[in-house]
Amino acid sequence: MDFNLIKERAEFYKPAMTKFLRAIVANPGESCGEEAHVRTIEAEMKALGFDKVEIDPQGNILGYMGTGEKIIGFDAHIDTVGIGNIDNWTFDPYAGYENDEEIGGRGVTDQLGGIVSAVYGAKIMKDLGMLSDKYTALVTGTVQEEDCDGNCWLYIIEQDKVVPEFVVSTEPTDGGIYRGQRGRMEIRVEVQGVSCHGSAPERGDNAIYKMAEILMDIKALNENDAADDKEIKGLVKMLDFTKPLCSSRLLRNFIRPPYDSRRTLGILPG
Ligand SMILES: [Zn+2]
Repeated sequence: MDFNLIKERAEFYKPAMTKFLRAIVANPGESCGEEAHVRTIEAEMKALGFDKVEIDPQGNILGYMGTGEKIIGFDAHIDTVGIGNIDNWTFDPYAGYENDEEIGGRGVTDQLGGIVSAVYGAKIMKDLGMLSDKYTALVTGTVQEEDCDGNCWLYIIEQDKVVPEFVVSTEPTDGGIYRGQRGRMEIRVEVQGVSCHGSAPERGDNAIYKMAEILMDIKALNENDAADDKEIKGLVKMLDFTKPLCSSRLLRNFIRPPYDSRRTLGILPG
């Protein structure tokens, strides 16, 4: 295999890939609202001569390049998290920007750049005759990953009955080849206190303070020496406090709990 030829083709398609990426980013595509992304990708796949392009009932787009029996999947989820607080952005996240080095916009890294690379990767495979009658490249733009990762592929395998030999995820790894998901649990901790009137908190048992102690223990789980091994670092993290900001899976950068403060003559605020 001549890697230089592949690199040359990739360079050749750079302007088209940049245009394609920015066209996807131009529309919001949060989980369950991916249609504009799907339509943009569908049009590009068809224009590039994919042999078959399908949108399944769940909303996943499946583009086939080649007609071989063995399917090799290249997946990118095409939903993004929301934009959060617009004031934290230094540019319009949908209009985006580009310079010689980078392209900015909501989702360019996670994971719209991935679908662009996969679509053009399949095109380059076809251009260079790399798809024999044995192999088909299947490029999938999958939905709702941010809210329930894995569900899209469960659907593709069980309902669409499309079962690739293996799937390459295009989640960003800075060019490295990474082992896939380690497995994940979502755990909810519930704390029970005793309610009482806010003017006499000593009569009750504040569940928030009980939770605070647990939170510090959970924090310590990630900070002890045993966690230095990257196998378990970041094993446990608290995600949302009340309701999620822009995704149920991001760490919070902001919380605003309400306090009740009682005053009377002679007691200074403090
Ligand atoms: Zn992702």
